[in-house]
Amino acid sequence: MYDIIIIGAGPAGLTAAIYARRAGKSVLVLEAKTYGGQIVNTTDIENYPAEPGISGLELAKKMYDQAKNLGAEFKFEKVEDIAGGEVKTVKTDEGDYEAKAIIIATGTDYKKLEIENEEKLAGHGISYCAICDGNLYKDKVVAVAGGGNSALYESLYLADIVKKLYLVHRRDEFRGDETLTKKLEEKPNVEFLLGSNVTKLNGKDKLESIEINGEKNLEVDCLFVAIGREPKNTFSKIEKDMNGFIQAGEDCKTNLDGIFVAGDARTKSTRQIVTAVSDGAVAATAATKYLSGGYYGAHQ
Ligand code: NAP
Repeated sequence: MYDIIIIGAGPAGLTAAIYARRAGKSVLVLEAKTYGGQIVNTTDIENYPAEPGISGLELAKKMYDQAKNLGAEFKFEKVEDIAGGEVKTVKTDEGDYEAKAIIIATGTDYKKLEIENEEKLAGHGISYCAICDGNLYKDKVVAVAGGGNSALYESLYLADIVKKLYLVHRRDEFRGDETLTKKLEEKPNVEFLLGSNVTKLNGKDKLESIEINGEKNLEVDCLFVAIGREPKNTFSKIEKDMNGFIQAGEDCKTNLDGIFVAGDARTKSTRQIVTAVSDGAVAATAATKYLSGGYYGAHQ
């Protein structure tokens, strides 16, 4: 039996592993794919303090090495479900593991347009994160797909960087807040393309243009897809919010005793690497406190 099982080896899970190991707890990290989570798809991270211009893969490797060198154990298996109680069980596609506490750090996936070439051109003119990649398109022409608050916020952020921005939305009105659309209307370099679907992504090694409604081609340097996020957890007994994210406040405590959530999988307003690592520290400290019967250190 482990003290703490951490599900997910993205920035939140890796930080939780570092904190839990430094607190002397035995730690198993379970990850379905590879360590790093979403950041491994970002070529140039410019907003992580003290690491300007690091690649996502390099940052992930540094975090992984740090956790591993501190003694965290890693197994690359897909978690299928968890069960609470005094002894918790984590069921993977390869077996069952027991722990006294669990930290869920499963993150989210950006929703995809699910059209041809999308996967191939991701990172080469298709992006799912304006804050991550926007600066790479300074004074260039970009499009944003989506009509919710994410698309509107991403467009407002990008409009101050790029030369021209097309906001492509499939319906005739936006789902997001009117105050945001009003602000966008005031931007001279923003053009709304309503009633418009991206039907094709053109380009061999990088995106060259997007096809709208099966008719016209629009030359763009990047398409930012902002059509929502999908939480990756399907754990049955955990309380979730209306969007499917695990319900927990800044203390990272879920509705189940001794089960914590950290990073993008948690209900929150800002999903960034720094907020994920912050959650990882909070969740590991809370789990450590839980394991010691509620007392841990003076600085809580
Ligand atoms: P969302 O509100 O679900 O909006 C998704 C948008 O993408 C919708 O306009 C939808 O079109 C469009 N869409 C979905 N699937 C599509 C597809 N396959 N092809 C083309 N368009 C597609 O998602 P979100 O904007 O990410 O926001 C999620 C939640 O987070 C919302 O509650 C939002 O208010 C909140 N949020 C808050 C903030 C903030 O307050 N700082 C920032 C971002 C998001 P339809 O409109 O036609 O369905």
